[in-house]
Amino acid sequence: MANGGKRMQKQKSRKIIEILGVTIDVLTMDKAVATVKSWLSQEQKRMIFTVNPEIIMLAKEDPAFAQVLNSADMVTADGIGVVIASKKIGRPLPERVAGYDLQLRLFAETEAGYYFLGAAEGVAAEAARKIMAKYPKAKVVGCHNGYFNRFEDLIEEINACNPDVLLVGLGAKKQEELIARYQDQLNAKIFIGVGGSFDGFSGKVKRAPDIFIRLHLEWFYRLLKQPSRWKRMLKLPLFLVAVRKSKKS
Ligand code: UDP
Repeated sequence: MANGGKRMQKQKSRKIIEILGVTIDVLTMDKAVATVKSWLSQEQKRMIFTVNPEIIMLAKEDPAFAQVLNSADMVTADGIGVVIASKKIGRPLPERVAGYDLQLRLFAETEAGYYFLGAAEGVAAEAARKIMAKYPKAKVVGCHNGYFNRFEDLIEEINACNPDVLLVGLGAKKQEELIARYQDQLNAKIFIGVGGSFDGFSGKVKRAPDIFIRLHLEWFYRLLKQPSRWKRMLKLPLFLVAVRKSKKS
């Protein structure tokens, strides 16, 4: 009941839409950054998830996962497919708010301590070095790879670093479930599911050139670079069909 009340309160101050059962915030990148900045000066814990069509389709098949996503304090449209879907249902999102770009804005603009959790051995540490060299305000207070046996064994280590923001990059579902399950035991205030961001920050995986991003073809660039992703990308047309169907019903 208390939780339900808290959730209602949370929802009140948000402008949201729902796509296939997943709540998404109607906001611009600037608004998202400003909101996180204000949260950093408060004590309350907040979870931020960024969704693309593949994640929404996963949630459609898995109500427990949908519930985890919907328990977040902010959910942004990570993929252009989500923005397209929002237009199809007549509730247009103003723009894509990619998790990767949101993190870079936070590194550049906020004096916060970050803990990087995720990716293969050494990747988060390399990402931390590169981020701190480029963004003097960002302090990476600790990091750990994403291939551990028991998360419980890491909690003390993370808490000893006292991060303001915990970035969790374990891939969709795993990272959101971990955040939702353990946030109360963790010292951080802001928790963000960041997917493969550490691979990008470290230089292990190259981000698409600007022109691809501007033409909304980042997904196509990733497909060219990692052809094994094609199966995952088949979800996009299925997603748009499901959205169209949901509009009719
Ligand atoms: N990963 C991890 N632990 C796991 C599984 C995955 O740390 O048990 C990492 C993986 O190394 C990669 C990220 O999670 O850095 C997932 O990347 P992907 O591009 O698939 O994420 P997306 O952004 O598409 O969800």
